[in-house]
Amino acid sequence: MLCREIPKVDYAIIGGSGTWACEFPEDIKLDGVKVLEKDMKFETPYGETVPFKLCSIDGSLTKDGKERQFLTVPFHGWHGLAPNNTPSEQVFWVLKEAGVKFVLAEGSGGGINHLLEPGDIIIPNDFIDLTKRRSHIAEFAHKIIRTKDPICPELNSLLYKNAQKEFKRVFRRGTYCTTEAPRFESAAEVQMLKNAHVDITGHTMIPEVYLARAIGACYAALYIISNYAEGLITNWEGDSIFDWYNQCAIPIGKIMLNSLAAIETEKKCLCSTYCTDVPQRIHNRISADD
Ligand SMILES: [Zn+2]
Repeated sequence: MLCREIPKVDYAIIGGSGTWACEFPEDIKLDGVKVLEKDMKFETPYGETVPFKLCSIDGSLTKDGKERQFLTVPFHGWHGLAPNNTPSEQVFWVLKEAGVKFVLAEGSGGGINHLLEPGDIIIPNDFIDLTKRRSHIAEFAHKIIRTKDPICPELNSLLYKNAQKEFKRVFRRGTYCTTEAPRFESAAEVQMLKNAHVDITGHTMIPEVYLARAIGACYAALYIISNYAEGLITNWEGDSIFDWYNQCAIPIGKIMLNSLAAIETEKKCLCSTYCTDVPQRIHNRISADD
């Protein structure tokens, strides 16, 4: 259903392969979580979105005792197996119009740090962007976007705390490298990423992490290690990544809902201060050069 009005909400959950194997949030069966509306597609300057859901969490579960509404979209808004077009721009245009202040995302990736095992959880605190797609960030904010602490430390802490209740091994620091989907990296590329101190590689954190900052929202994302990156383990032919997706969907869904419910409404972080306005006299110079 194409919706003309975008609901005003403070919160969003961007679903990924972590909850791919379930219907989120219905299958999590958390008392107090309701789906208010589903199949909500929106027209954006970047094309029509995949369907969103508008959901609520009862005040008995939330930090401030008040009901919270949130928008959620599956699999990062992708329309197929690869983000060929601009699904993140579609999603973040909706989140910007909705007035979203907090974004939680999830997904999976290949472990590059040799200490990581399939089934581990990592909540990265930094990123490297090796995508080849055009950035649309300037269309979301006429500012200079700093990427100091790109992951909100407050949201990182909440995901970490809630993930520890569901998984044995959880890491709250690490560097995530985004490469182009749907191809995985070659062994030589993985070695290069290892030399660059990358811990996990995947296809989704970019451009979400910087579009969140551009719209003034705090952002953090949680990933399950679904496989060893190519070449790390000789002749590894282990479990299918899809086996992990079946196992992790419900616990990851629970982590996302419990973390959203626990967000402090008064921000203590500095995320929103890392956007710098360009002084008017510089704007004037830039315009004069057009
Ligand atoms: Zn923040």
